[in-house]
Amino acid sequence: VTHLAAARYIGRFAPSPTGPLHLGSLVTAVASFLHARLHHGQWLIRVEDIDHTRSLSKVAEQHIRDLSLLGMHSDAAVVRQSQRQTYYRQALSQLERLGVLYGCQCSRQERANQEGRGGCCLCFGKNLSLANHALRIHLGAPAVQEQLTACQTFYDEKMGRFTQDLSTQVGDFVLRRADGAISYQLAVVVDDAQQQITHVVRGADLLDNTPRQILLQRLLQLPTPSYAHIALVLAADGKKLSKQNGASALQVNTPQQRLTCLLEAAAHLHLNLPQNGSINTLDQFWHAATLAAALTTQ
Ligand code: GLU
Repeated sequence: VTHLAAARYIGRFAPSPTGPLHLGSLVTAVASFLHARLHHGQWLIRVEDIDHTRSLSKVAEQHIRDLSLLGMHSDAAVVRQSQRQTYYRQALSQLERLGVLYGCQCSRQERANQEGRGGCCLCFGKNLSLANHALRIHLGAPAVQEQLTACQTFYDEKMGRFTQDLSTQVGDFVLRRADGAISYQLAVVVDDAQQQITHVVRGADLLDNTPRQILLQRLLQLPTPSYAHIALVLAADGKKLSKQNGASALQVNTPQQRLTCLLEAAAHLHLNLPQNGSINTLDQFWHAATLAAALTTQ
Protein backbone atom coordinates (compact mmCIF):
# COMPACT_ATOMS: atom_id res chain seq x y z
CA VAL A 1 0.00 0.00 0.00
CA THR A 2 2.79 2.40 0.94
CA HIS A 3 4.61 2.17 -2.37
CA LEU A 4 1.36 2.58 -4.30
CA ALA A 5 0.54 5.75 -2.41
CA ALA A 6 4.04 7.07 -3.02
CA ALA A 7 3.99 6.22 -6.71
CA ARG A 8 2.36 9.45 -7.79
CA TYR A 9 2.84 13.00 -6.64
CA ILE A 10 2.30 16.19 -8.60
CA GLY A 11 2.64 19.46 -6.74
CA ARG A 12 2.65 23.06 -7.92
CA PHE A 13 3.50 26.66 -7.14
CA ALA A 14 0.98 29.09 -8.59
CA PRO A 15 2.08 32.71 -8.24
CA SER A 16 -0.07 35.60 -9.43
CA PRO A 17 2.15 37.91 -11.47
CA THR A 18 0.96 41.12 -9.83
CA GLY A 19 4.39 42.09 -8.54
CA PRO A 20 7.92 40.69 -8.19
CA LEU A 21 8.56 37.66 -5.98
CA HIS A 22 9.30 38.56 -2.36
CA LEU A 23 10.22 36.59 0.73
CA GLY A 24 6.57 35.62 1.39
CA SER A 25 6.10 34.07 -2.04
CA LEU A 26 9.53 32.44 -1.88
CA VAL A 27 8.66 30.68 1.40
CA THR A 28 5.61 29.11 -0.25
CA ALA A 29 7.61 28.16 -3.34
CA VAL A 30 10.35 26.51 -1.26
CA ALA A 31 7.79 24.68 0.91
CA SER A 32 5.96 23.22 -2.10
CA PHE A 33 9.22 22.39 -3.89
CA LEU A 34 10.66 20.55 -0.88
CA HIS A 35 7.38 18.72 -0.30
CA ALA A 36 7.49 17.46 -3.90
CA ARG A 37 11.15 16.44 -3.54
CA LEU A 38 10.46 14.55 -0.34
CA HIS A 39 7.77 12.57 -2.14
CA HIS A 40 9.94 12.04 -5.22
CA GLY A 41 7.23 13.86 -7.11
CA GLN A 42 6.92 16.39 -9.88
CA TRP A 43 6.65 20.11 -9.23
CA LEU A 44 4.94 22.48 -11.65
CA ILE A 45 4.82 26.24 -11.99
CA ARG A 46 1.48 27.75 -13.00
CA VAL A 47 1.12 31.43 -13.81
CA GLU A 48 -2.15 32.69 -12.30
CA ASP A 49 -2.65 35.60 -14.67
CA ILE A 50 -6.42 35.24 -14.77
CA ASP A 51 -6.91 38.86 -13.78
CA HIS A 52 -5.74 40.55 -16.99
CA THR A 53 -5.99 44.02 -15.57
CA ARG A 54 -3.37 43.45 -12.88
CA SER A 55 -1.15 40.74 -14.29
CA LEU A 56 1.84 41.50 -16.40
CA SER A 57 3.48 38.92 -18.59
CA LYS A 58 6.91 40.48 -17.97
CA VAL A 59 6.42 39.94 -14.26
CA ALA A 60 5.51 36.28 -14.86
CA GLU A 61 8.67 35.77 -16.90
CA GLN A 62 10.63 37.33 -14.06
CA HIS A 63 9.06 34.91 -11.55
CA ILE A 64 10.05 31.92 -13.68
CA ARG A 65 13.56 33.28 -14.14
CA ASP A 66 14.03 34.01 -10.42
CA LEU A 67 12.80 30.55 -9.43
CA SER A 68 15.10 28.90 -11.90
CA LEU A 69 18.08 30.95 -10.67
CA LEU A 70 17.24 29.63 -7.21
CA GLY A 71 17.27 26.04 -8.48
CA MET A 72 13.51 25.54 -8.83
CA HIS A 73 12.46 24.45 -12.32
CA SER A 74 9.01 23.38 -13.46
CA ASP A 75 8.91 19.67 -14.37
CA ALA A 76 6.45 20.41 -17.20
CA ALA A 77 5.69 23.35 -19.46
CA VAL A 78 4.48 26.37 -17.51
CA VAL A 79 0.70 26.74 -17.75
CA ARG A 80 -0.85 30.21 -18.00
CA GLN A 81 -4.41 30.82 -16.86
CA SER A 82 -4.87 33.60 -19.42
CA GLN A 83 -4.77 30.93 -22.15
CA ARG A 84 -7.31 28.62 -20.61
CA GLN A 85 -10.65 30.42 -20.94
CA THR A 86 -12.19 27.52 -22.92
CA TYR A 87 -11.77 25.13 -20.01
CA TYR A 88 -13.23 27.57 -17.49
CA ARG A 89 -16.23 28.15 -19.77
CA GLN A 90 -16.77 24.40 -20.05
CA ALA A 91 -16.79 24.11 -16.26
CA LEU A 92 -19.32 26.94 -16.02
CA SER A 93 -21.62 25.18 -18.53
CA GLN A 94 -21.35 22.01 -16.49
CA LEU A 95 -22.40 23.92 -13.36
CA GLU A 96 -25.19 25.62 -15.29
CA ARG A 97 -26.58 22.20 -16.25
CA LEU A 98 -26.63 21.27 -12.55
CA GLY A 99 -28.87 24.28 -11.95
CA VAL A 100 -26.63 25.86 -9.34
CA LEU A 101 -25.87 29.24 -10.97
CA TYR A 102 -27.71 32.55 -11.08
CA GLY A 103 -27.07 35.91 -12.67
CA CYS A 104 -26.13 38.85 -10.47
CA GLN A 105 -26.05 42.54 -11.30
CA CYS A 106 -24.63 43.92 -8.07
CA SER A 107 -22.07 46.68 -8.43
CA ARG A 108 -18.48 46.13 -7.39
CA GLN A 109 -19.20 48.04 -4.19
CA GLU A 110 -22.31 45.99 -3.38
CA ARG A 111 -20.34 42.82 -3.98
CA ALA A 112 -17.56 43.98 -1.67
CA ASN A 113 -20.11 44.76 1.08
CA GLN A 114 -21.57 41.26 0.85
CA GLU A 115 -18.19 39.53 0.94
CA GLY A 116 -17.96 37.01 3.78
CA ARG A 117 -21.43 37.90 5.09
CA GLY A 118 -23.05 34.63 4.05
CA GLY A 119 -26.48 34.10 2.57
CA CYS A 120 -27.52 34.74 -1.00
CA CYS A 121 -27.35 37.95 -2.89
CA LEU A 122 -30.41 40.11 -3.54
CA CYS A 123 -30.27 39.15 -7.21
CA PHE A 124 -31.24 35.58 -6.38
CA GLY A 125 -34.82 35.00 -7.54
CA LYS A 126 -34.72 37.80 -10.11
CA ASN A 127 -33.95 35.23 -12.81
CA LEU A 128 -31.44 37.45 -14.57
CA SER A 129 -29.99 35.93 -17.70
CA LEU A 130 -26.79 33.98 -17.19
CA ALA A 131 -25.34 35.27 -20.42
CA ASN A 132 -24.45 38.86 -19.64
CA HIS A 133 -24.30 39.14 -15.88
CA ALA A 134 -21.92 38.09 -13.18
CA LEU A 135 -22.52 34.47 -12.11
CA ARG A 136 -22.91 33.23 -8.56
CA ILE A 137 -23.25 29.73 -7.23
CA HIS A 138 -26.37 29.18 -5.11
CA LEU A 139 -25.47 27.31 -1.94
CA GLY A 140 -29.15 26.53 -1.34
CA ALA A 141 -29.44 24.61 -4.63
CA PRO A 142 -30.21 20.90 -4.09
CA ALA A 143 -27.08 19.74 -5.97
CA VAL A 144 -24.94 21.92 -3.69
CA GLN A 145 -26.74 20.94 -0.49
CA GLU A 146 -25.91 17.30 -1.23
CA GLN A 147 -22.19 18.12 -1.18
CA LEU A 148 -21.99 20.52 1.76
CA THR A 149 -21.14 18.01 4.49
CA ALA A 150 -18.37 16.54 2.38
CA CYS A 151 -16.66 19.87 1.70
CA GLN A 152 -17.16 21.99 4.81
CA THR A 153 -14.67 20.02 6.88
CA PHE A 154 -11.35 18.82 5.58
CA TYR A 155 -8.05 17.73 7.07
CA ASP A 156 -5.09 19.97 6.31
CA GLU A 157 -1.64 18.40 6.55
CA LYS A 158 -0.21 21.43 8.40
CA MET A 159 -3.19 23.11 10.03
CA GLY A 160 -5.18 20.02 11.00
CA ARG A 161 -8.95 19.79 10.83
CA PHE A 162 -10.62 22.86 9.36
CA THR A 163 -14.35 23.52 9.34
CA GLN A 164 -16.29 26.31 7.71
CA ASP A 165 -20.01 26.87 7.37
CA LEU A 166 -20.21 27.99 3.76
CA SER A 167 -23.77 29.31 3.89
CA THR A 168 -23.23 31.64 6.84
CA GLN A 169 -19.50 32.37 6.59
CA VAL A 170 -19.10 32.73 2.83
CA GLY A 171 -22.48 32.82 1.10
CA ASP A 172 -23.24 32.49 -2.61
CA PHE A 173 -19.92 33.30 -4.22
CA VAL A 174 -19.04 34.73 -7.62
CA LEU A 175 -17.63 32.40 -10.28
CA ARG A 176 -17.53 34.87 -13.15
CA ARG A 177 -17.60 38.64 -13.06
CA ALA A 178 -19.89 40.68 -15.30
CA ASP A 179 -16.90 41.57 -17.50
CA GLY A 180 -16.34 37.86 -18.12
CA ALA A 181 -13.35 37.45 -15.78
CA ILE A 182 -13.30 34.00 -14.18
CA SER A 183 -12.91 33.84 -10.41
CA TYR A 184 -9.80 32.44 -8.78
CA GLN A 185 -11.91 29.70 -7.09
CA LEU A 186 -13.10 28.23 -10.37
CA ALA A 187 -9.83 28.62 -12.28
CA VAL A 188 -7.74 26.97 -9.56
CA VAL A 189 -10.09 23.97 -9.36
CA VAL A 190 -10.14 23.44 -13.12
CA ASP A 191 -6.35 23.82 -13.40
CA ASP A 192 -5.44 21.64 -10.42
CA ALA A 193 -7.58 18.85 -11.87
CA GLN A 194 -6.31 19.19 -15.39
CA GLN A 195 -2.68 19.24 -14.26
CA GLN A 196 -3.50 16.22 -12.08
CA ILE A 197 -2.22 17.96 -8.97
CA THR A 198 -2.21 15.52 -6.05
CA HIS A 199 -0.77 17.85 -3.38
CA VAL A 200 -1.43 21.55 -2.88
CA VAL A 201 1.09 23.33 -0.64
CA ARG A 202 0.33 27.05 -0.38
CA GLY A 203 -0.04 30.01 1.96
CA ALA A 204 -2.34 29.84 4.99
CA ASP A 205 -4.30 32.84 3.67
CA LEU A 206 -5.96 30.36 1.32
CA LEU A 207 -6.98 27.87 4.03
CA ASP A 208 -10.49 29.32 4.20
CA ASN A 209 -10.85 29.20 0.41
CA THR A 210 -10.42 25.43 0.41
CA PRO A 211 -14.00 24.34 1.27
CA ARG A 212 -15.23 26.44 -1.70
CA GLN A 213 -12.73 24.69 -3.93
CA ILE A 214 -13.64 21.22 -2.62
CA LEU A 215 -17.30 22.06 -3.28
CA LEU A 216 -16.53 22.97 -6.90
CA GLN A 217 -14.42 19.82 -7.31
CA ARG A 218 -17.29 17.66 -6.12
CA LEU A 219 -19.86 19.38 -8.32
CA LEU A 220 -17.58 19.01 -11.34
CA GLN A 221 -16.71 15.43 -10.34
CA LEU A 222 -13.02 16.19 -10.04
CA PRO A 223 -10.66 14.63 -7.49
CA THR A 224 -9.72 16.53 -4.32
CA PRO A 225 -5.96 16.85 -3.81
CA SER A 226 -4.43 16.79 -0.34
CA TYR A 227 -3.78 20.22 1.17
CA ALA A 228 -1.01 21.69 3.32
CA HIS A 229 -1.25 25.39 4.22
CA ILE A 230 1.98 27.06 5.28
CA ALA A 231 2.12 29.79 7.94
CA LEU A 232 2.53 33.16 6.25
CA VAL A 233 5.48 35.49 6.55
CA LEU A 234 4.05 38.53 8.32
CA ALA A 235 5.01 42.15 7.80
CA ALA A 236 5.63 44.62 10.63
CA ASP A 237 1.91 45.50 10.59
CA GLY A 238 1.05 41.85 11.39
CA LYS A 239 -0.55 41.34 7.98
CA LYS A 240 0.54 38.96 5.21
CA LEU A 241 3.79 40.26 3.72
CA SER A 242 2.96 41.96 0.42
CA LYS A 243 4.09 44.74 -1.86
CA GLN A 244 1.61 47.06 -0.11
CA ASN A 245 3.26 46.68 3.30
CA GLY A 246 6.82 46.91 2.23
CA ALA A 247 7.93 43.53 0.89
CA SER A 248 10.94 44.12 -1.30
CA ALA A 249 11.63 42.21 -4.49
CA LEU A 250 14.00 39.26 -4.12
CA GLN A 251 17.56 40.02 -5.17
CA VAL A 252 18.89 36.97 -6.99
CA ASN A 253 21.58 38.29 -9.29
CA THR A 254 24.64 36.92 -7.52
CA PRO A 255 25.19 33.41 -6.10
CA GLN A 256 25.55 34.95 -2.63
CA GLN A 257 22.21 36.78 -2.93
CA ARG A 258 20.52 33.56 -4.01
CA LEU A 259 21.85 31.65 -1.01
CA THR A 260 20.85 34.45 1.33
CA CYS A 261 17.25 34.39 0.03
CA LEU A 262 16.98 30.63 0.30
CA LEU A 263 18.47 30.54 3.80
CA GLU A 264 16.02 33.19 4.92
CA ALA A 265 13.10 31.21 3.45
CA ALA A 266 14.39 28.04 5.14
CA ALA A 267 14.55 29.86 8.48
CA HIS A 268 10.88 30.86 8.12
CA LEU A 269 10.05 27.21 7.49
CA HIS A 270 11.96 26.30 10.69
CA LEU A 271 14.26 24.00 8.76
CA ASN A 272 17.14 22.96 10.91
CA LEU A 273 20.10 23.51 8.58
CA PRO A 274 23.74 22.89 9.55
CA GLN A 275 25.34 26.11 10.82
CA ASN A 276 28.94 25.01 10.20
CA GLY A 277 29.49 26.86 6.94
CA SER A 278 28.90 23.75 4.84
CA ILE A 279 26.23 25.38 2.68
CA ASN A 280 27.96 27.40 -0.02
CA THR A 281 26.23 26.36 -3.23
CA LEU A 282 22.65 25.91 -4.40
CA ASP A 283 23.16 22.13 -4.60
CA GLN A 284 24.42 22.05 -1.03
CA PHE A 285 21.45 24.15 0.08
CA TRP A 286 18.85 21.92 -1.61
CA HIS A 287 20.49 18.78 -0.35
CA ALA A 288 20.59 20.02 3.25
CA ALA A 289 17.10 21.54 3.05
CA THR A 290 15.59 18.29 1.75
CA LEU A 291 17.20 16.35 4.59
CA ALA A 292 16.03 18.90 7.15
CA ALA A 293 12.49 18.84 5.72
CA ALA A 294 12.42 15.05 5.94
CA LEU A 295 13.37 15.28 9.62
CA THR A 296 10.81 17.95 10.51
CA THR A 297 7.92 15.99 8.94
CA GLN A 298 8.71 12.81 10.87
N1 GLU B 1 -2.20 32.58 -7.11
C1 GLU B 1 -2.42 32.48 -5.71
C2 GLU B 1 -1.54 33.47 -4.98
O1 GLU B 1 -0.56 33.94 -5.55
C3 GLU B 1 -2.12 31.10 -5.16
C4 GLU B 1 -3.18 30.16 -5.55
C5 GLU B 1 -3.05 28.76 -4.98
O2 GLU B 1 -1.95 28.35 -4.62
O3 GLU B 1 -4.07 28.09 -4.95
O4 GLU B 1 -1.83 33.79 -3.85
